[in-house]
Amino acid sequence: MDSVLRTQGRIGSRTLLITTAALPLTGWTVHALALHRKLSATRMDPLTGLLRRDAYTAHARRLLARHGDDTTAVMVDADKFKEINDGLGHAAGDTVLASIAARLTAWAGPRAAVGRLGGDEFAVVLDLPAEHREQRLEQLVRMLYTPVALDDGRTVDLAASVGAATPDVIGARDLTRLQRAADAALYDGKHSGRAVLATAAHAATPSVNGRRAGRPGTAMWGRAA
Ligand code: GH3
Ligand code: MG
Repeated sequence: MDSVLRTQGRIGSRTLLITTAALPLTGWTVHALALHRKLSATRMDPLTGLLRRDAYTAHARRLLARHGDDTTAVMVDADKFKEINDGLGHAAGDTVLASIAARLTAWAGPRAAVGRLGGDEFAVVLDLPAEHREQRLEQLVRMLYTPVALDDGRTVDLAASVGAATPDVIGARDLTRLQRAADAALYDGKHSGRAVLATAAHAATPSVNGRRAGRPGTAMWGRAA
């Protein structure tokens, strides 16, 4: 009888000890999870699940440092997106933005930096050597032009403009300069259904969003308008 009590007593105090030790651990785990969720929320765009601008920029810069001249910066802006919002509603517009994000993620692969810079504007930095650029950019344009299926059964025709820039052509591995050149190339091909690869002239474009006239000799890949 005595030994039974002693055993129960031993188990009881051990259980108490483990529970007491575990409680702060559980508290820290909950705290760490909450912190992680908060940090993720500041890093991620809630609508698309893509990185927001700051987190995207940090990731993109790391990729540029790692892959150098094999890196390609790509800018994407949906075409006539306001018409989708106006004609089909904001919720349909949201679905289209989420679809663009999913397509960019699938296209770019798990190691790429994919971000939503705001509104209907997206950016990707990925390891994409020169010999694959043309074919991969054509593939991206095809993916983006696939109609989007809404939950209610309707489909939305989607169009998007794509500009790309590479350090070997631009002569710099600086993300800001690459994105500016890619943006200028995007606006050169706006509404054309083709991806445009930035030339040195695009890199020199001083205007915001590169809203300037097209340049002769610009390489364009994808669908005809
Ligand atoms: P363009 O062909 O020249 O690119 O013009 P656009 O109609 O696509 O319009 P623009 O790129 O100038 O502006 C993007 C619009 O996207 C403006 C805004 O009404 C809409 N928008 C921005 N954020 C959201 C969002 O989170 N959800 C939805 N549904 N619409 C958004
Ligand atoms: Mg747009």
